[in-house]
Amino acid sequence: MADQGREEIPPKLTERDRATWAEVVVDVRVAEVDHPFHYRIPAFLQTKLRVGHRVYVPFGPRQRVEGFVVGLTSDAPDVVRPRDIIELVEEEPAFTEAEVAVAEWMAERYLCLRVQALQCFLPPGSSRRRRRPVQERTVQGVSLAIPPDEARRIADGLEKRAPRQAEVLRRLLHADGPIPAAQMAVSAGYGPLRALEGKGYLRYETVRRLRLPGVQNMPGTAAERPVLTPDQQRAVDAVVAALDKRSFTSILLHGVTGSGKTEVYLQAIGEAIQRGRQAIVLVPEISLTPQTVDRFRKRFGDKVAVLHSALGSGERYDEWQRIRSGEVDVVIGARSAIFAPAGRLGLIIIDEEHEASYKQEEAPRYHAREVAEQRLRMQSLGGVLLLGSATPSLETYHMVRSKRIDYVVLPERIGGRSLPATEIVDMREELLAGNRTMFSRSLTAALHEALARREQAILLLNRRGYASFLLCRECGAVPRCHACEVSLTYHQQPLRLCCHYCGYETSVLTACPQCKGPYLRPFGAGTQRVELEVSKAFPAARVLRMDRDTTARKGAHYDILRRFAAGEADILIGTQMIAKGHDFPGVTVVGVLNADIALHFPDFRAAERTFQLLAQVAGRAGRGDTAGRVFLQTYSPDHYAIRAAAAHDYVGFASQELEYRQQTSYPPYAELARILVWGEDQHKVASTAKQAAKGCMSVLNSPEQLVGPSAAPLEKLKGKHRWHLLIKGDTDTVRKGAEAGLQAVAQRDAEVAVAVDIGAVSLL
Ligand code: ADP
Ligand code: ZN
Repeated sequence: MADQGREEIPPKLTERDRATWAEVVVDVRVAEVDHPFHYRIPAFLQTKLRVGHRVYVPFGPRQRVEGFVVGLTSDAPDVVRPRDIIELVEEEPAFTEAEVAVAEWMAERYLCLRVQALQCFLPPGSSRRRRRPVQERTVQGVSLAIPPDEARRIADGLEKRAPRQAEVLRRLLHADGPIPAAQMAVSAGYGPLRALEGKGYLRYETVRRLRLPGVQNMPGTAAERPVLTPDQQRAVDAVVAALDKRSFTSILLHGVTGSGKTEVYLQAIGEAIQRGRQAIVLVPEISLTPQTVDRFRKRFGDKVAVLHSALGSGERYDEWQRIRSGEVDVVIGARSAIFAPAGRLGLIIIDEEHEASYKQEEAPRYHAREVAEQRLRMQSLGGVLLLGSATPSLETYHMVRSKRIDYVVLPERIGGRSLPATEIVDMREELLAGNRTMFSRSLTAALHEALARREQAILLLNRRGYASFLLCRECGAVPRCHACEVSLTYHQQPLRLCCHYCGYETSVLTACPQCKGPYLRPFGAGTQRVELEVSKAFPAARVLRMDRDTTARKGAHYDILRRFAAGEADILIGTQMIAKGHDFPGVTVVGVLNADIALHFPDFRAAERTFQLLAQVAGRAGRGDTAGRVFLQTYSPDHYAIRAAAAHDYVGFASQELEYRQQTSYPPYAELARILVWGEDQHKVASTAKQAAKGCMSVLNSPEQLVGPSAAPLEKLKGKHRWHLLIKGDTDTVRKGAEAGLQAVAQRDAEVAVAVDIGAVSLL
């Protein structure tokens, strides 16, 4: 390809010739000076300097501070003491003009520092202190310790028993040198590497980073492309038409699990590449999606860069350079890959767009979906944002309904497979029938049948969140806050119920507010307890457990999933991490032990999260040739989120939920910001939060726009007390409110921290 460079055009020559001033944002992280300052452009930089350059400038009493050029101008600004740029940090600009524009937008939108926003576009790990990133480093690589013939024979032998080990050997056979261990672990996990090393088939060695394209990727076997179904073809056509328009378009691809979304992504990317454009693919959590990454590698070989947290900062830097140089056509990664320096960007795909992990929970608190849109809007060639999900976020679906984005549906699973039969099990009746175990009678029977037929099962214990609540075992009622409609959180010390939105508190009830019965109890059970109960009820079953405890080690996720896929266990027990896109053809039974727990979490998105999780986990059953069965155990069998999930009825759910959001003025009908205050001293934290609230109130139009302040649902984290308040309203008001809130506590006690989160997703 002739055009290997970045597509962005430098500022017009005429304008640059006249420019004598550069607008520079200095890398001093203080809000008061987080705006451009004017510096004179010295003669030796007159023709060279461009927007996006990193420069050294004098600043205040400091002789030499790093800064970023964000604008060039000829207007004589009002500068008291004109000073010159000292020199360039690097010859080439670090940012394109479009990237600078996106960073500017981020600073406005998320109320973060401009420097923080700009920093996102620099290669990860290139700290502002390090002058020049290390160009050459060593990494841990793996290579064969045995002759190729023997390796081939052993790989054949391992195929059945240990397919991942076999795959590692095959990849080493295809490579013409060592492969970085971290790259290998992306798809294989570390387990197989250790196993092969133990057997003496593989060795670790320190190697200079190999830059030969292809060494770090799958052997370039271009997998055959299936012929698209008519629905898939319509989706790809929509992307192509939008690409050719050369302006910004966004499309929601709404397809149930297994409907062929990934195949649409692959072929849409193929079309973009043919038009000389690059693609970025975001996945929620890359360590949980090795199968997806492999499919991209098989299709596009060396032209794929994977930005993975298992990569060292040096390796990330190298991938960044490969992307920037234009060598790479497709970038896959989690949230931060949205900043990858793809200069010929044409297509951004966000898979599972509803996932909360696309929102960054520390500064800058951006949402990848919003940044993606701005990136494409700010570049002259436009581009397509393709959002894929089986359960789109209500924000995105609302845009579809108000005709602000295009909509393509894949209504059926590939190969005519049906969605699994889903049964709602009323746990109140189990109690009445004398069944006090955590497995309903119908789930127990289905598990026995599956085990007898040597099929597999998944048991999901939903543990999203930390708070517990009171539940009436007889009628299923959960005490809620009358003002905020969220459930009241149960506290043991001191014993009380409280609302984590508005701060309302009450003593612990003893009788159910609905049926007046005496069975109001705190609710919650751990995966360990489930494992114990399974071993009692099904002593012959082989069990694997996947939760935060069993996956602390790097690569552990993947090991567990691989072992389950290889048939090493009959039952997989886990938290929501097992619900993600894995493909287990052997699974015929899925049981959700407590389908409603997330309903009662103090979050206005509780119903949406519940629906998403249940729909997703139901998608795990029946991926093979045998039809699947799903059991949703619940104390709220009539709740619309649970009914809709069981009926695979997204549209029904979304309509009802949107109506409720409109009534309560929550997103997508309002903007939402959260001010979080934390620190060691509980009283200082609380009084700071109250002061911030006062500041907000001074600019808000009505008291309903402010919720709180109150203790946050996660009241204490790492020894710090936490308080929060929410601001609801139109975008402008919310921003003004948040700014006023921050302003009011600018002079606060040094031990108390305050953050504002615009478009907040996590309300913990
Ligand atoms: P999703 O991403 O929606 O879960 P996938 O793209 O993974 O769906 O498709 C599900 C399965 O169907 C995969 O095994 C995929 O290879 C296969 N598949 C997808 N599209 C086609 C097609 N047009 N013809 C045949 N098989 C297909
Ligand atoms: Zn309340």
